[in-house]
Amino acid sequence: MRGRPYLRGLAEGRRRERASRKIVRICEDIPMIGTRAFGIVDMGTNIIEVRPTSLCPLSCIFCSVNAGPASSLRWAEFVIEAVDTLVDAVRELVLYKSCNSVEIHIDGMGEPGTYHRLTELVQMLREIPQVRTVSMQTRLVTFNERKILDLVDAGLDRFNVSVDALDMDLARVLSGTSWYNVERVLELVKFIIDNTRADVVLTPVWVPTLNDDEIPKIISWAVRNRLGKRFPPVLVQKYVPHKHGRKPRVPIMSWGEFFAKLRELERRLNVRLVPSSSELGIERTRPVPTTYRRGEVIRVEILDRGIFLNEYVAVPVKRSGSPITDRVITVIADSSLENILLGQRIRVEIIENKNNIYIARPVDF
Ligand code: SF4
Repeated sequence: MRGRPYLRGLAEGRRRERASRKIVRICEDIPMIGTRAFGIVDMGTNIIEVRPTSLCPLSCIFCSVNAGPASSLRWAEFVIEAVDTLVDAVRELVLYKSCNSVEIHIDGMGEPGTYHRLTELVQMLREIPQVRTVSMQTRLVTFNERKILDLVDAGLDRFNVSVDALDMDLARVLSGTSWYNVERVLELVKFIIDNTRADVVLTPVWVPTLNDDEIPKIISWAVRNRLGKRFPPVLVQKYVPHKHGRKPRVPIMSWGEFFAKLRELERRLNVRLVPSSSELGIERTRPVPTTYRRGEVIRVEILDRGIFLNEYVAVPVKRSGSPITDRVITVIADSSLENILLGQRIRVEIIENKNNIYIARPVDF
């Protein structure tokens, strides 16, 4: 929001397709729960998702969150400057959950490797006594050997690496990026396995008809290279079209078909591909409380753009000061109202609150 010390919007835009996208830096005083774009997502388990940035240098053709330079739906990106505020919120959440075996999973609507305070973040999260594991979803494209060693020294235990094809040309097509080099990514994966205590799990997205032949090759490569020291070596993801996501024209597998194919690959390649929740170390824990119910009308201050066009990020005018109950809200309103809405206090009706992700629409506009 313009002129406020805790949230600054900076126009960015050398690239033509990003000319109108804005980077919103979350500095302080903003609740860390309530949006998928940044902060914390709690699904009521011992795995807490931490999202420090929505920036991504790739433009995968199936991206469920429409990230990267090719995105035509995003009009803002988020970067958390207030790493202390983020870690304090995680610490409080861990205490609230009363759980002694928490996994922090760093991921988000972008590539965490682009986060400028990543090593610091990992180190601070690792210092929370109840945190057993710190893991991260990444494509490794922003890393080199030195950065990997720094991250592992800081306390990163597992890299979940998205690799969707071993074939160089196909990998470039799937990533929507001409410079993407899957051979270099695999070199870094081997470096992690051979030189650090950290584990690597490959997490390919199975996009039917595009990478059918690549999935068994990826699994065999992972087994051959001793991935999955303490975890299954590969966790295949099903391609699912999402409302804001990029949608290649491919047939959609049902979940039944997807799991049947994985079972068949398990038999053929003699490797575990459908682990149980307990094998993945997932336990149910106390979820964060739902602060606002659907239909409730509250007064919010519009702070800045939201991540997608026609979205704004807002905070309730009345807040408790606790990261457990304070929320950030996404308000849906036409992008053309930006100059009118920014900085305004308006009444909104909560229309969605699933998993403590709040969507609202203005009542007075
Ligand atoms: S799938 Fe991941 S790496 Fe690819 S564009 Fe989306 S956020 Fe970026």
